[in-house]
Amino acid sequence: MKKLTKENRNTEKPVQKYRFWIQAGFALLCVWIGIEFHFFVESLSVGNPSDVGSRPPGVEGFLPISALMSLYYFFLTGEIHQAHPAGFVILVGIISVSLIFGKAFCSWMCPVGFLSELIGDFGDKVAKKLFKKRIKIPKILDYPLRSIKYLLLAFFVYSIFFAMTAASLKYFLDSPYNLVADVKMYLFFADISRFSLIVIAVLFGLSIIFRNFWCRYLCPYGALLGITSLLSPNKIKRDPVSCIDCGLCNKACPSFIKVDSVKTVFSDECSTCMNCVDACPVKDTLQLKTITNKTKISKKLVAFGIVAVYIIIIGFGIVSGNWQNNISKEEYLMYQKNLNSLGHPRSTADIEKLNKLSNESSKMKE
Ligand code: SF4
Ligand code: SF4
Repeated sequence: MKKLTKENRNTEKPVQKYRFWIQAGFALLCVWIGIEFHFFVESLSVGNPSDVGSRPPGVEGFLPISALMSLYYFFLTGEIHQAHPAGFVILVGIISVSLIFGKAFCSWMCPVGFLSELIGDFGDKVAKKLFKKRIKIPKILDYPLRSIKYLLLAFFVYSIFFAMTAASLKYFLDSPYNLVADVKMYLFFADISRFSLIVIAVLFGLSIIFRNFWCRYLCPYGALLGITSLLSPNKIKRDPVSCIDCGLCNKACPSFIKVDSVKTVFSDECSTCMNCVDACPVKDTLQLKTITNKTKISKKLVAFGIVAVYIIIIGFGIVSGNWQNNISKEEYLMYQKNLNSLGHPRSTADIEKLNKLSNESSKMKE
């Protein structure tokens, strides 16, 4: 077995501190958006347009289905639908980050991923004290459970990309339900049912026992980014010549990837968290590299690049006028009065109905 010496020791500073602060920054941003949106919804209840507060467009980042519809609508028509343009821009930003840096959104920016990581760290500490090791779901269950998030994603992809036309997408995106989907989402959490609370508590508990339970098994957003991340040219690479087979990379990986047995990590579960790179004691043995020309991407560049790509795309959305939506205060007030009667189309039959209705309304316009 090769040995660790003074010459081959890895002296590069870890990047986890930066990752923590970036995650914390994005989580605080989401809290701020939540507070601002709370005041916006409260101001709607006054009923006077001049009293309606400002609405933070970033709230649309929490409407991923609507954003996915806008994305498909954009592919079909070349137009960015103006009901939730910020949601569209945020989705494009997140997908772009994953096409360049793998599933980095999950481990660098997602507030749910951040919370999941914090409670997973706590769970790991408790497990190590009690059982001297982290708790893992047996492989025989792990694979079928991991497919759940892909099944959820497949359902959304089918419902949008295969069952809807440009006309029915427009009909849905223009529908009052979609226009105030953010307000409805807020009320869902502000007036949460006992059943939803129990579900959240169960997921919370499972995430303490089984690290990243939500992200690994259930999150369809993670499934989408897992697929797009496979297209990323930048991968974690191990040099088997200098590797001393210490296994520290395996222990550090929150996704349970066997980093020490591959030359290139090619996994939909790798979130480019760089934990394995930080843990590797041997210089230049584990690195993020481009698979094409094998250029090393420094840890700091990873941190900077992830944030920069995202901010550039958001900035482009803002300067191109695709950030604030076109819903007037008067419209918000009108829809707010009838919120409970604004339903969601739930079945393929509903979508077919939408297709039919949109065909009819376009015929009437002709
Ligand atoms: S392989 Fe490395 S970068 Fe990927 S998830 Fe595991 S620790 Fe993070
Ligand atoms: S690649 Fe993994 S097994 Fe090899 S030296 Fe680095 S941490 Fe140890």
